[in-house]
Amino acid sequence: MSLNLTSLTFRLVERVGATAAGSTTLVDVDGPAEVEVARRWVEATGNTLLVVHPAAVEIYRGRVSDPLEALAPDRRPGHRLWIYTNFHCNLACDYCCVSSSPRAEPRTLSLDDFTALVDEAADTGVAELFLTGGEPFLLLDLDERIRVATAAFPVTVLPNAMVWTGERRRRLDALPRGRLTLQISLDSATAELHDRHRGEGSFARALAGIGLAMDLGFRVRVAATLGADAGNAEVELEALFDRLGLDDDQRVVRRIARQGAANAGLTMSRASLVPEICVTAEGVFWHPVAAADPAMMVSEHWSPLGQVIDDVRDQYRQHRLAGDVLASSFPCA
Ligand code: SF4
Repeated sequence: MSLNLTSLTFRLVERVGATAAGSTTLVDVDGPAEVEVARRWVEATGNTLLVVHPAAVEIYRGRVSDPLEALAPDRRPGHRLWIYTNFHCNLACDYCCVSSSPRAEPRTLSLDDFTALVDEAADTGVAELFLTGGEPFLLLDLDERIRVATAAFPVTVLPNAMVWTGERRRRLDALPRGRLTLQISLDSATAELHDRHRGEGSFARALAGIGLAMDLGFRVRVAATLGADAGNAEVELEALFDRLGLDDDQRVVRRIARQGAANAGLTMSRASLVPEICVTAEGVFWHPVAAADPAMMVSEHWSPLGQVIDDVRDQYRQHRLAGDVLASSFPCA
């Protein structure tokens, strides 16, 4: 062991030894090699490395369990992979979490990049893909992307079901039905609430799109986004879902997030969201609900995807452990 690493071990023994059980301490480190030594030392001595800072590691005196283990396997970061195929949309909903609209810069992930990403995802333990936007079906090659994706994964595509005419309708007809779910947005059982946020006439067209997809034999899930003005929309929606014959796993009701175009709603942060890794043409984000929020970008590059997934898991652990320690140790007096 070099003199520097010996000195690090002394610092670790001294600082952690002087720290009460259940408290944290900072130990200076110089570079990745010392971080790795510190990581092995805390593991061997029954302590926990909470956070790697630029020039120090934060160590918890004692052992805390891995927060990832508390998540169901299908909720752990890296199980699902979200892909924003594009960001432009035929609608301009007033709460769109990524500010999509007909005027939005498309920021389309190229077909080559999309194919390479699917290939890499297949090698990294990803189990399920979600393709969203913008309106994914605005891309005329979406059918090709869906074929690439469903060859490797169960896939959910999130359309607003309003652009299936002409050539796009022909391509919809020809899509594979197996391993593909269409998750279509519908915010209310009648037009008023849905159209208030998504534009006049959009409710009738979305409902027609749901009917078309079901008639064509696609597996359909219907997703509603509700804000403070929703009233009893959720109750009415459940009745509509019943009439459509949707099972429980074909219904999603979620709240508006204060992201993108939304000026009200739930506040999102890395500390409050279990990550669902999301790739866009501009980089990788913590969660699809925040895929236009620079503060939620985790990497400018999605490859190597395995490394990105490991980094997000580490960051999630650090947020949870740091939060748990703060919650159990923050004194006001
Ligand atoms: S919420 Fe969906 S349908 Fe509305 S603008 Fe955004 S991407 Fe388009």
